[in-house]
Amino acid sequence: MLVRILVVEDEIALSEQIADALKEAGYAVDCASDGERGDFLGRTEGYDAVVLDLGLPKVDGLTILRRWRESGISMPVLVLTARGSWHEKVQGIDGGADDYMAKPFQIEEVLARLRALIRRATGQVTPELRCGTLVLDPKGARVTVDGVPIRLTSHEFRVLSYLMHHRGRIVSQGELTEHIYSQGFDRDSNTVEVFIARLRRKLGGSFIETVRGMGYRIEEQA
Ligand code: CA
Repeated sequence: MLVRILVVEDEIALSEQIADALKEAGYAVDCASDGERGDFLGRTEGYDAVVLDLGLPKVDGLTILRRWRESGISMPVLVLTARGSWHEKVQGIDGGADDYMAKPFQIEEVLARLRALIRRATGQVTPELRCGTLVLDPKGARVTVDGVPIRLTSHEFRVLSYLMHHRGRIVSQGELTEHIYSQGFDRDSNTVEVFIARLRRKLGGSFIETVRGMGYRIEEQA
């Protein structure tokens, strides 16, 4: 999964240091060096987390944070505060920050805190379904096997998603047909077999089991 992070910090050297460390750790990173740009990016792009300095030109970090929270923008925000400024920490948390770090800090600690924030946030937003190495993320419509993304058509995804949601149970062709097509679509239960065959080819392994004369099943595994 590509994780995208926004860094809003006007000290260019510090911003670059954070961005470099994040990129090295595999994140996609955008930087903004003033509050106006940071506010704009946070509103218009989809970020998984934000590193937000409070002291910024044009619009200060606390104002940005309050605006985001007021308009329902809920991605995790790690606030950077001036050293020893306890009132900044308090204001940051009151303003909707998920965590804070006082300057100067170790970059490793910033990374660790971001990992924790993203874990917490995605745990709530994307309850993934798992079967061994097969992982399906219903919200993002993503499927991976052993961490490798698998490209599926929308019908293949729906078949897999339905079976994954009902792991451990036999699902008949008729039931699958009912659930994978939208209203008014020409339903042909034979095509389910085609989707299953394609899914098996794309996913590899033996995730989908055929139960003769009854239907299909994905086993419940940790
Ligand atoms: Ca600053």
